[in-house]
Amino acid sequence: MRQHRLGWTGIPVPVVGQGTWQMEVEDRAACVDALRRGIDAGMTHVDTAELYGGGVVEELIGEAIVGRRDEVFLVSKVLPHNASYEGTLAACARSLRRLRTDRLDMYLLHWPGNHPLAETLRAFERLERDGKIRFWGLSNFDEADLEQAVALAGERRIACNQVLYHLLERSIEHRVIPVCERHDIAVVAYSPFGSGGFPRPPHAGAAVLEAIARARGATARQVALRFLARRSFSSDGGSDGAGARPGVLVIPKAANAAHAAENARAADLELTAEELRRIGESFPLGEDRGGLPVL
Ligand code: NAP
Repeated sequence: MRQHRLGWTGIPVPVVGQGTWQMEVEDRAACVDALRRGIDAGMTHVDTAELYGGGVVEELIGEAIVGRRDEVFLVSKVLPHNASYEGTLAACARSLRRLRTDRLDMYLLHWPGNHPLAETLRAFERLERDGKIRFWGLSNFDEADLEQAVALAGERRIACNQVLYHLLERSIEHRVIPVCERHDIAVVAYSPFGSGGFPRPPHAGAAVLEAIARARGATARQVALRFLARRSFSSDGGSDGAGARPGVLVIPKAANAAHAAENARAADLELTAEELRRIGESFPLGEDRGGLPVL
């Protein structure tokens, strides 16, 4: 599995990871199996949140990673209404218990909320000092929120910003990605298949994905993931070379082991600049309206 550094942290993480939202409504054994199959295939970046199933999904992940905690780059999120100083410490303790581990690799604020951000960040720093988390980051922060957070925390403190990004919703390319690149913050792309809304015919772009997939012996979803993660591939060019960029990492969710195995292979797919251009043209970026779309 191809890896890319997680922004300024320099930690290599797989370009394709695993989401877990709504796994609580799926067959539990199938989800555990899919997560394990994904880890086997190198998708060791596992994303979850205290929100998901009210903790049920963290428990399910705890089961999936028994005996292999050290293979996984484990990420969870605190809910904004829990994100006071004390509330964040307590929420993290609950997540660790459900995940059956003593540490998270990364802990995120799920979206900006009403508790002062300084309080949440102070708790993140304390958790980091105590060895409960290795890194911390943010989620659903638009360009203005992110600049404020950097001003508050300082450079090289925020490891990632997890945001919505799929072929039909590329607006983070206007402002959020440039701000992340300026501060060397990794972009983690959530809902890379648009949740249930993956483009299908008669969408003209669906035919382009299918044609490229056929030519490459791949699937349309693999082509889509590879396009979204293109900033993590040095072969895709760019004036500074991808190695110098903080990267875009994708975290598709699959409750089905065959889907997980398929998604993992996206990281090995080679696409030419011409193929990337055709995909980009088929799913236009759209106007810059500022701010951030959320699911
Ligand atoms: P997604 O990954 O865009 O799409 C998931 C859907 O695609 C599921 O229905 C899944 O089906 C299907 N799928 C996956 N691989 C497939 C394949 N190879 N072939 C056919 N279908 C396939 O949706 P998402 O769950 O919204 O986003 C991914 C993750 O991002 C979440 O799980 C969560 O961890 C994170 N997220 C974060 C936020 C945030 O606010 N920070 C918000 C939303 C999501 P099966 O499950 O049946 O395999």
